[in-house]
This record gives sequence, structure tokens and C-alpha cells, in this order.
Amino acid sequence: GDILRKRKIAVLGSRSVGKSSLVIQFIENHFVDSYYPTIESTFSKSINYKGVEYDCDIIDTAGQDEYTILNSKHAIGIHGFVLVYSVTSRKSFDMVQVVYDKIVNFCGMNAIPCVIVGAKTDLQQSKSRQVAPDEGQKLADSHRAAWVETSAKNNVNVAKVFELCLQEIERQSPNSKNT
Ligand code: GDP
Repeated sequence: GDILRKRKIAVLGSRSVGKSSLVIQFIENHFVDSYYPTIESTFSKSINYKGVEYDCDIIDTAGQDEYTILNSKHAIGIHGFVLVYSVTSRKSFDMVQVVYDKIVNFCGMNAIPCVIVGAKTDLQQSKSRQVAPDEGQKLADSHRAAWVETSAKNNVNVAKVFELCLQEIERQSPNSKNT
């Protein structure tokens, strides 16, 4: 019989790093150039990962900074996290570590299923890139997290983000497969 595998994914990171654009590109297959600042939206999508159908809720958050107190909605009952920075913003990259720490403290765990995303790679020619790929990879390695660079504008690696998130969820909690 069919088992409904429900997964909740929260997308976090600094404001204007491209969280909404990433989610909208994934859900609706188009790029929004000037999307209104998100308060918070939840999208549902069925994702097939390794032949298994996952019924996913994707929570696009308003964005965080160093002063943000983590909303329990963004931690409790969340299976996997997508932490986004822009490759053109060093500050947003530093914020990934800050938000990561807030989540693990909140959840009282030492590791969380997580994919770290370097967004807006199409801008690296015009604006100067501020975060090198190996820095992103190193940060992810230090948390045993997945890492990928994306362009929501050119639809590069957008679906990959959510596949990697499911991969991390299944890797870190294999026993929840049938729930
Ligand atoms: P959020 O606040 O993190 O949700 O960021 P948004 O998705 O609203 O994006 C902020 C701005 O960056 C918007 O003007 C987007 O059009 C732009 N943006 C987002 N993703 C990309 C991308 O992949 N490439 C480029 N060039 N711009 C992007």
C-alpha cells in the first residue's frame, strides 16, 4: 500500500539572499525578479527521491539576522533545513553559521539534517563574488551537511537543493522512513 511520507523543510537565511526566488522557481518553474518581501509562506509539493514519493511542506521564512529569536515553528517538527546565503554577500554567508547555531541550540541536538546553499551564482561576473565555492563546501563539511551552489534565475541546481535536503533527512533519521 501507499505510505504517505510527509516531510517539513524550512528555508532560512538572511533577507534578500534569494530564498523566495529559489522556492518559487522550484514550485512554479519561473523566476520572479522583484518578489515582495516574504512574511512567510508554506508551499506543498510532492517530491520523488530515489523512487519514493515524499509529500513535502516547504516553509519560506521572512529571513533572519543576528538578533532574530528563532521561531519555534521553524525548528519544532521540521525534518530538514535549507540554509541560504548569496555568493555575492559575505555577511549572508556568516549568517548561515549564526542561524545554524540557533537551530541546534533550539533543538538541543548537535547536528541537524541540512543543506547549505550558495545562491545567485549568475551574478558572479557582474558583481564580485564574495564567497568562494570551497568556503561553502568547508562550512558544510564542518557540520556534515550537504552543500550546493544555485541560480534561481537560470534554474541551476534548484531541484538539487530539495533532493539533497531529503537525502540529509533520510541519512540522519533512517528510522523515520515509514512515518
Ligand atoms: P529572500 O528575501 O531571501 O526571499 O530573497 P528574494 O528571493 O526575494 O530575492 C531577493 C532579490 O534577489 C530579488 O530581487 C530577486 O529577484 C534576486 N534574486 C534571487 N535569486 C536570484 C538569482 O539566482 N540570480 C539573480 N541574479 N538574482 C536573484
